Amino acid sequence: MNDKAGVFTISLDTELAWGMFDKSNIDKYKHAYRNTPEVINRLCELFDEYEIPATWAVVSHLLEDCDGDHSDRTSPDFEWVNDWFGELPCSGGMDKDLWYAPWLIDRIQDCKTEQEVGLHGSTHMQLGADGCSRQHAEEEIGAAVETLRGYGVKPKSFVFPRNDIGHVDMLREHGIEVYRGTDARWYERASIPGSVQPPLRFADEAIRGTPPVVEPVERDGVVEIPGTQVFRPSNGGWQYTPGGSSVARAKKGLEHAARTGGVFHLWFHPFNLGHEPERDLERLERVLSVVREFVADGALECRSLKDMASGR
Ligand SMILES: [Zn+2]
Ligand SMILES: [Zn+2]
Repeated sequence: MNDKAGVFTISLDTELAWGMFDKSNIDKYKHAYRNTPEVINRLCELFDEYEIPATWAVVSHLLEDCDGDHSDRTSPDFEWVNDWFGELPCSGGMDKDLWYAPWLIDRIQDCKTEQEVGLHGSTHMQLGADGCSRQHAEEEIGAAVETLRGYGVKPKSFVFPRNDIGHVDMLREHGIEVYRGTDARWYERASIPGSVQPPLRFADEAIRGTPPVVEPVERDGVVEIPGTQVFRPSNGGWQYTPGGSSVARAKKGLEHAARTGGVFHLWFHPFNLGHEPERDLERLERVLSVVREFVADGALECRSLKDMASGR
C-alpha cells in the first residue's frame, strides 16, 4: 500500500436536453429526462449516505426561465447546426420540463455532505470545436458564471461539453480553477477517429479493463483532472456490454487508486441513469460501498474537483 491515500472523485454532467438538442432527436431520451429529477434526488441521498462530495457540472441555462430570445448573442459557426441560438431548447417550443430545472441548485445544496456546484457551460456550447471563436467562448462562460452568481455560487470547476477542450485561458479569467480532462484511455485522444472510439470503449467495458489512475496537472493556469471511467449508461450502445461491468471496473479502479495513491475519477450524466433508474442506482451504490470500505481503511479520500485543485 502506498503511503499516500488515493483519491476518489465524481463529476456529473448535469444537462437534461441541453446535451443533445443540436445532435439528435431528443424524443428517444425523453423518458430518461423525465426520470432525471428523481435520479438527482436519489443521487443526493446516496451521496449523503456514503459521504461523497460530488462535483455537479451544470448547464446554467437549466436555471433560467427564458422566452427563447437570444438576439443579443451571436451563434458560433458550427458545421452541424445552422443557428445555435435559434435552435436552443428554449427557442423551439420544447416542453419546459426537459430544459428548465429551477429547483436544481437548492436540491444539491440541501445535501448534508457538501456538494460542489460547477459548470458545464451556459448552453452546452462545444468550446473546442471549429467555429467557436474567442468571443463566443467569452460570452458562453461569462453568461454561465453570472447565472450561478445569482445563486450565490462562484464556480471553480468546469466540464467541457463533449469533453471538447478549448479556450482554457478564458476559464481562468472567469475564476475557474479546474476542469475535467479527456479520459486517460489512449483511444480517447484526438488522434483516434471519432468513429472508432465507441467500439473501443465498448470492448474495454466488455473485458472489464482496469481503469487507469491519473494525477492533476496544470495547463494554461488551470488544473486538469482527466476522467478515468464513465459509469456505464444503459443506452447509446452500452446496453450491449455486460451489465455488471461498470461495477467490476470501478472496483478495479478504486483498488488501483488505493494502491498507487492516484486519482480515480468516475463520471456520468444523471440522465444516463434515467433509463433504468432502480437497476443503475443499485449498481452505483455497490461502487460507493466499496469506496466507503477503502475510506474506512484510510486508503482513499473522497474529494470534489475544486478541493483537489486547491489542495495541491
Ligand atoms: Zn434561452
Ligand atoms: Zn454534456
